[in-house]
Amino acid sequence: MLHDDLKSVLLTEEEIRTRVAELAAMMDSACAAAEQPPLMIGVLKGSFMFIADLIRALKTECAVDFMAVSSYGAKSETSGQVRILKDIGENIEGRDVIVIEDILDSGITLRYILDLLNARRPKSVKLCALLDKPARRKVPVEAQFIGFSIPDEFVVGYGLDYAEKYRGLPYIGVLKPSVYME
Ligand code: 5GP
Ligand code: MG
Repeated sequence: MLHDDLKSVLLTEEEIRTRVAELAAMMDSACAAAEQPPLMIGVLKGSFMFIADLIRALKTECAVDFMAVSSYGAKSETSGQVRILKDIGENIEGRDVIVIEDILDSGITLRYILDLLNARRPKSVKLCALLDKPARRKVPVEAQFIGFSIPDEFVVGYGLDYAEKYRGLPYIGVLKPSVYME
């Protein structure tokens, strides 16, 4: 059943599950030659559901950590200012790292995170984003794993929120503009 605040479903549970399995298989291949388990870094909060499903679909042994950043507040547009709210606890020097993010939009958040992690001299840093809005990019960011390219609309569900709502929806839908223009 479609939530009243949504105008449409963009990605169903089934479509997400299928694509997550494909991403996991791509990661398994990419990690096959690695000597030690990669560290998956989930970017909170939006990626929590994605990373949980992704590592269950992964055959590769991996370590998991999280970082939390904030650039949005309760708005639907990025402020351009990134703040670290929680850093990872692991030392990543010499390690293979994969950053797991919900959505790549302007790229400002991920550019900041990738630069920060690269400065700690990991062996490699790859990026996996479930969603990508290429039309919105303001700074260049390269993602090795992309789930879906989507149009420039504000989406919620499957971990993604608007003002902390809708994270628990098992699908991804487009929010009615009236909800955030009130
Ligand atoms: P960027 O720095 O690339 O502009 O922003 C990335 C972050 O903005 C994402 O991690 C996500 O938290 C948020 N974001 C961007 N687009 C959307 C969207 O359509 N829906 C939701 N819920 N968050 C978004
Ligand atoms: Mg986010």
